[in-house]
Amino acid sequence: MEIKKTKMPFHKLKTAFLSIFIFIAALVSLAAQRPTMTVHFIDVGQGDCSLIQTPSGKTILIDGGPEDPYYDAGKERVVPYLAALGVKKIDAVFISHAHRDHIGGLPAILSSFPVDKVYDSGYVYPSPIYEKLLKQINTAKITYVIARAGMKVELDPLIEIKVLAPPKNLPWDDPNNNSVVVQIKYKDIAFLFTGDIEADAEDSLIRQYRYGLESQILKVPHHGSKTSSTDDFLDAVNPEVAVIQVGRGNRFGHPNANVLRRYKDFGVRLYRNDTDGTVIIETDGKVYEVRKGADTYSSSGKTN
Ligand SMILES: [Zn+2]
Repeated sequence: MEIKKTKMPFHKLKTAFLSIFIFIAALVSLAAQRPTMTVHFIDVGQGDCSLIQTPSGKTILIDGGPEDPYYDAGKERVVPYLAALGVKKIDAVFISHAHRDHIGGLPAILSSFPVDKVYDSGYVYPSPIYEKLLKQINTAKITYVIARAGMKVELDPLIEIKVLAPPKNLPWDDPNNNSVVVQIKYKDIAFLFTGDIEADAEDSLIRQYRYGLESQILKVPHHGSKTSSTDDFLDAVNPEVAVIQVGRGNRFGHPNANVLRRYKDFGVRLYRNDTDGTVIIETDGKVYEVRKGADTYSSSGKTN
């Protein structure tokens, strides 16, 4: 049998290449047009502050960084950072819990930008700074919402915002474990914000959600403390990237060496504010890109 080799004429080949090229160019421009979500893990020193710019242009802040007599992260870091990005209004502020390294910077932020809603655990915590913050929220007539597991926040139709914790009855006598935990999902890419939850709250989340916890990007609980990030929790979340919000030279020894090893053993790419500065993750809902800022803040580590 004779096998006849057919060769595509050159002009046809050219047309084929041209149509493939046009197809790829169309895909690239479509990707460029697709709205993106950007999450900034702002380097505030020893404390937490994440900014989320949603695909439809809404602004969410989770915690506001620390404050002490020598340093106000809200005034010195977060307000200028948001202003540089052109933020005019904050649509939602989530308070993970009432410790100073998470809420200390909020008074300056709330007095610099109009804020639509504040979500808080409502866990009664007697601290002058928390009580003052609640008064400020009230005086500014900001809508105050108690965040509880199961709540969905409708802010941007392109994303899903789910409150996963704390449970309704606030089971723990401790602000860390009662932290507000939020999962923000844009199509295939999910971010999990965990405040300062410890192993107890992690276990409870696993029991309640298991695979629902799965997220590509994890804000490491409690600054990488040895009391959090259990094997079971990492197994359930199964993150590809984890970010530790931690200040250089902090006096708590965060992050813990065993915890760092655990993340490494799980094959997670780790970023941390003390060595990487502000960490920015941008996603179109399909893929994501991690960028590291150069503006590392060196903290005296006065708050936990
Ligand atoms: Zn903390």
